[in-house]
Amino acid sequence: MSWIVEPERKTPVVAATDVLVCGGGFAGVAAAVCAARNGARVLLIERYGFLGGLVTGGLVITTPPLDNGINREIAERLRRKRVYAPLQKPGAEMISLRMHALDPEVVKHELLQMLREAGVDLLLHTLVVGSVVEQGAVRGVLVENKAGRHAIRASLTVDATGDADVAAFSRAAFRVVRKPITMMFNMAGVDIDRVLDRVGNWSNLKKVVTDAVAQGELKFELGTTLEWGTPGVHAECLLHPGEINVWSGNLKGVDALDPKQLTDAEAVTRDHVMRLVAYLQERVPGFEGSWIELTSPILGVRATRQILGGISPDMQQVRNTTFADTVAKPYAEDTIRLPYGSLLPQGAENLLVAGRCISAEEEAMGQLRLIPVCSATGQAAGTAAALAVRKGVSPGKLDVADVQRVLTDQGVDLGL
Ligand SMILES: Cc1cc2nc3c(=O)[nH]c(=O)nc-3n(C[C@H](O)[C@H](O)[C@H](O)COP(=O)(O)OP(=O)(O)OC[C@H]3O[C@@H](n4cnc5c(N)ncnc54)[C@H](O)[C@@H]3O)c2cc1C
Repeated sequence: MSWIVEPERKTPVVAATDVLVCGGGFAGVAAAVCAARNGARVLLIERYGFLGGLVTGGLVITTPPLDNGINREIAERLRRKRVYAPLQKPGAEMISLRMHALDPEVVKHELLQMLREAGVDLLLHTLVVGSVVEQGAVRGVLVENKAGRHAIRASLTVDATGDADVAAFSRAAFRVVRKPITMMFNMAGVDIDRVLDRVGNWSNLKKVVTDAVAQGELKFELGTTLEWGTPGVHAECLLHPGEINVWSGNLKGVDALDPKQLTDAEAVTRDHVMRLVAYLQERVPGFEGSWIELTSPILGVRATRQILGGISPDMQQVRNTTFADTVAKPYAEDTIRLPYGSLLPQGAENLLVAGRCISAEEEAMGQLRLIPVCSATGQAAGTAAALAVRKGVSPGKLDVADVQRVLTDQGVDLGL
């Protein structure tokens, strides 16, 4: 490999804050709102122009119930706008909790409103590209945007990038996992009744597609080394008449930290979507007048880096243990709990992690990456960050009983 040596440069420090939250998905927004409500000056940085991460940008718009802590607030806001509703059909459960549908556009705006109401400073269109580490402690990050390259100082940083970017930049311990990736999309103008007359229920549409593939009427060619886990379709009419949310199959073996592979994955899944839609429009009654409303602006990457924290609980532990340092209980009606140690990366001081890259055993992560868990860990991380700043200690030295007391006082049922 050849190299270019860049000249040494001075990077201007453009902002300083108490708590810096990197990433504006459900975890990051929850962390920022809760840190601000607990008295910290908070800045949230997000690479895209909207909030919600995979929920809004990835069109992941079904979730187990949002019914504890900040999740309950989000649900109430969405319910008022009539865009949060339980799925009414047999089998619409995950971890025996009923799945609910959300409207991504309203979610984007409500999350923005929550940040404004809490007094959080927001910087969109800004990518975190490095961290500022002094004597082993994270003191902020380096960012790049249209204005150039800048530094932002922070007393404490919360990594809610989903990919543990800040943890990796700070040389914290992590492992890399590869999970199937998916391009979600929405179609509009679907004559739902006619489709269901033809296929019976949405699950059967998958069989129509699988049969078409088996008979060679529909071809999903990869043309790369990538591999289909499950090509096909799962469609669901969620909230709006004539609109369906479509899961377009799982692509396996992608290293989603490699931009070249991600580029291939974007191209392949987009081909797949177009072929699938053309087939549905031509061959399945009810799709004739339909169109693609939106393919997900963010490719559905489930996981990349997972931090190695003070503890990596397995599923049995998160379901059956009341950890002495329990700081999150995502659901009112389920026993899953998360310990504070899962948010504390080894090898980097002054950093907390929230969302889909927290520390847990891989088999547990399938359930711990669900939306309500990400926001519950965000609430815990943001609250802990504000308390740590107020007390002038690093997050690892915080008395977790204080965090538990504040969370409980602020309406989180920790089941303690
Ligand atoms: C295809 C698919 C289907 C799924 N199905 C379900 C389901 O049915 N129900 C369910 O509950 N969950 C589901 N999930 C999981 C769930 O959607 C996610 O785990 C959850 O939304 C993650 O939230 P998060 O805030 O941790 O991360 P993300 O939503 O990924 O948010 C991270 C944010 O950080 C930003 N960011 C990243 N890097 C940087 C950087 N360097 N600088 C600045 N900003 C950055 C991103 O733009 C993003 O906004 C699914 C996931 C996928 C991919």
